[in-house]
Amino acid sequence: MPWFSFHGGHSSEFCRHAGGRLEEIVQKAYEAGFTSLGVSEHAPRFRQGDLYHDEQDLTPGDLLTMFEAYRVRARELQKEYAGRMEMFVGFESEMMPPPEVGPEANKPAPHSHAGLSAAAEVSPEAAPPAGEMPTTNMALKRDARFFEPPLNDGMAVSARSGGGADRPKATAVVGNWAGRMKELKAKGKFDYVVGSVHSVGDYWIDYSPQATAEAAEALGGVEALRGAYFRQVVEMIEDLRPAIVGHLDLIRKFDGQHPEFSKGTWLEIDRALQAAHAYGCVLDVNAAPARRGLGPIYPMKEILRKACAMGVRVTLGDDSHGPADVGVGLDQAVKMIGEAGYRCINYLARWEGSVVWEEAPIETVYPAK
Ligand SMILES: [Zn+2]
Ligand SMILES: [Zn+2]
Repeated sequence: MPWFSFHGGHSSEFCRHAGGRLEEIVQKAYEAGFTSLGVSEHAPRFRQGDLYHDEQDLTPGDLLTMFEAYRVRARELQKEYAGRMEMFVGFESEMMPPPEVGPEANKPAPHSHAGLSAAAEVSPEAAPPAGEMPTTNMALKRDARFFEPPLNDGMAVSARSGGGADRPKATAVVGNWAGRMKELKAKGKFDYVVGSVHSVGDYWIDYSPQATAEAAEALGGVEALRGAYFRQVVEMIEDLRPAIVGHLDLIRKFDGQHPEFSKGTWLEIDRALQAAHAYGCVLDVNAAPARRGLGPIYPMKEILRKACAMGVRVTLGDDSHGPADVGVGLDQAVKMIGEAGYRCINYLARWEGSVVWEEAPIETVYPAK
């Protein structure tokens, strides 16, 4: 009888491209028979050029303030629902370098703010005033300064074989973004992180078909883009080691109902699954495409079959961006997990003060009422 989602809960209060209030989402989840709910608002980004297309009037300092307000509100709701529905408060990562990487580092602070104090010490100060940044084409392309060399703090190269020299430019320059995400998690005492990749190089790959096509062109074709994306997923997993890997094959968002990958891309996918397995990450079986009519649930069944054979565990995510999305498509996600060969689905639980994974036989995973 567990029924749950651990990726979603984006609300208009704390995310410009979502709808509704967080309390409405939580209430909807309770009414829909959720026994557990994890909310995972987008992590703030630290450089002006990394803001989403609908955040161009904001600053990185504003995002930090919103993120802190999200944390506080989510914990309030967790207390409110205690005993009825177990809530977990997390966030969804980005692979964006912190401001120290770019030339903005020594610019004066545009804003004073309240927020996560340690993160705030460095971040907003490093952002330029909003008016200084160009706003044209921001929707499609992030600030090209992403490609400037990072500080070599050792974090970005971690245990990857081969180091950075022979890797594509788009994935070689990430600075210590993972350190910043870990810092956010620790300072905010978040329960978990959903590790996601939404961009390749300086292009968002989940924003529009046009933006993804531009990214492919810039990288030398669709094949190159897919390869770069999955390598970035591997890098994210190795550097961040998130509890959950979000929408593993997001790169095929605009590829329709029957996406097909080449042999080369499948090798990259295998590497991503191996990394998830090696670090004990659980895959987010993400129902958003079902809701949006954008092709199979992430990861698509062929990937899930491989994941199952490799022993990579799975959980559920509705990726809700408003109350109307809550729980939508989770039944299809459960069905697909079963068809891929799984017997169990994992869900977060609390045990002796820690957040742990538990597993439920598939036939027991359905709404509580
Ligand atoms: Zn979102
Ligand atoms: Zn996402």
